[in-house]
This record gives sequence, C-alpha cells and structure tokens, in this order.
Amino acid sequence: MTATIIDGKAVAASAIEKVKAGAAAFSAANGMPPGLAVVLVGEDAASQVYVASKGRMARECGFHSVQHTLAADTTQDELLAVIGTLNADPAIHGILVQLPLPGHLDERTTIGALDPAKDVDGLHDISIGRLASGQVDKTLVPCTPKGCMELLETVHTEGISGLTAVVVGRSNLVGRPVAALLQHANATVTIAHSRTRDLPALCASADIVVAAIGRPEFIKGDWIKPGATVIDVGINRIAAPEKGEGKTRLVGDVDFTAASERAGAITPVPGGVGPMTIAMLMANTLKAAQHSVA
Ligand code: NDP
Repeated sequence: MTATIIDGKAVAASAIEKVKAGAAAFSAANGMPPGLAVVLVGEDAASQVYVASKGRMARECGFHSVQHTLAADTTQDELLAVIGTLNADPAIHGILVQLPLPGHLDERTTIGALDPAKDVDGLHDISIGRLASGQVDKTLVPCTPKGCMELLETVHTEGISGLTAVVVGRSNLVGRPVAALLQHANATVTIAHSRTRDLPALCASADIVVAAIGRPEFIKGDWIKPGATVIDVGINRIAAPEKGEGKTRLVGDVDFTAASERAGAITPVPGGVGPMTIAMLMANTLKAAQHSVA
C-alpha cells in the first residue's frame, strides 16, 4: 500500500481563506478587525522568525496586528504589566506570549496572567481545564493539536468515533491536548511516553498514530498498522551530507519513507502539521473576537 499524503499546506491555505472571510465579516459588523498581540521577550533568533511570520499572517488575514518586543532582562512584573494592558485593550482579542521565555521569567505565572478569553495559544489553566472536561466549544484549543484534528478530518470525513488512537508524547503543548481532542471525538485513546513498554506493539494496534516526541524518525515503518493514519508532529533538523557539506534537512518523528508503505494516510515533514499551527492561531484569534461580541 502507498499512503495518501496529507497536504498540510493546502489544508492550512483553505483554513486561512475561511479566516479571511470571517475577519471581513467581523470587521463589517463591529467596525474593527480582530486584533492579535504577540509578546516576545529577548532576542532568540528562532522566536523572532516565528513572531514575524505570525504578524505577517495576521495582517494577511485582515487583523489588527501588534507586536511587543521586550528586552531580555525584562522583569516578571514588567511583563505582567504589558499583559495587563493588553487584557484591558478592547482592540486586542488574542494575546500570544512567545515561548520559551528567558530563564528568569516563570511561564506558568505569565500564561496565568492572560485573560483566558484572549488565550489564543490555549495554554492557560482555565483553557486546559475546559478542554480536559470536554468543554471544547467554550475554550480556545492549542493550535498544533487543533491543526492535527483538522488534518485527520480530511481523511476521516465520517469522523473517528470508535477508532483506536495512540499519541506518543505527553507534553502540555501537543501530546496531552491532542489526546483530549481525540477522546472528545470519541476515539479510544492511549497516551505513550518515554516510560511506555513495547511502543512498537502499541503503535501497531492503532488506527491513528500521532507522533509528538522530538526524535528524528523514531517511529519505524513496521510499527504502523496497515491502513492506519499517521500524524507526524515532530520537527527535527538532521545532517544531510547528500545535499553537500554542512547541509541539513527537516524530518519528523516517523520514518516517513517506510511508514508511507504501510499507512493509509500520512503527513509529511515539512508540509504537514507545521503549516496548520499558524493557521489555527488565526482561527483562534477570529474565534476569540467573535466570542467577545457574542
Ligand atoms: P516535549 O519534549 O515537550 O515532549 C516530548 C514527549 O515525547 C514527552 O512526553 C516524552 O516523554 C516523549 N518521549 C521522549 N522520548 C520518548 C521515547 N523514547 N519513547 C516515547 N516517548 C518519548 O516536545 P513537544 O511535545 O513540545 O514537541 C514534540 C515534537 O513536536 C518536537 O519535534 C517539536 O519540535 C514538534 N512540534 C511541532 C509543532 C508544529 O507546529 N508542527 C509545534 C510544537 C512542537 P516523557 O514525558 O516521559 O518525557
């Protein structure tokens, strides 16, 4: 069998088109566009790239887009003051604090200071609690897990009710929320992690495998049940001597070439889950704006 390749770029582009239409309708009805504020502390090069692309996409969607760039030595109180100002700003519907923060700042305290109604990353304790208790419609769901579900929907058009799913990874950012969403969609979910015994056999039992580990090509092709759907969240940069000395390439957490011989459908890396994350951030900002006037 050769798997269907799930085209994350195309699914993300169509999600963005929907957001643009929703933003135009929101602006027409409310006299202002949805507003997204991104807060960056310090000068981490990768974070600067992520923040810039979020701002660009927000403007493309027709949003009011604001970026607060704070010095690396910003104190916790100063950061909380910026968040307080954004919480109180009626033109801002979504606030994203780019992680990781410099080591002297506490992430939970920082995220905890966000107005949960503006928590477009879905990382506030209230957002996590609502997701865990099945109140998916009342909360903002973390962007990467939400993107995984939208990709699954393109394959499982009748839903995933009754299917078995194994999520490898239990981070607050990806593994845990994706498992909660799969369960909410009535899959039977197992969460695996670094202490799991016999991961190959567990994966081989699953109709859906979601890999969120952070280890290049860790999940082997022969672990995949024939016909299963594989969602590869991992982004790992490895050496690519075949491209020339010092060159690198991106791979996922799944051995894509071998797994695509057995899977029914699989996401590539790059071009699978990655493009969905930013699209879902835009969708969450629009949702937050719509809720603010509902
Ligand atoms: P974390 O490092 O926070 O979590 C990794 C998880 O994998 C942990 O739960 C860990 O288990 C588990 N794990 C580690 N080693 C093994 C193993 N040998 N067997 C089974 N499980 C193992 O990573 P994230 O969840 O933040 O990210 C995961 C991957 O997804 C990364 O490659 C990251 O770059 C990528 N990512 C991609 C995004 C996108 O937009 N596509 C967005 C976010 C992340 P334990 O809890 O026991 O330590």
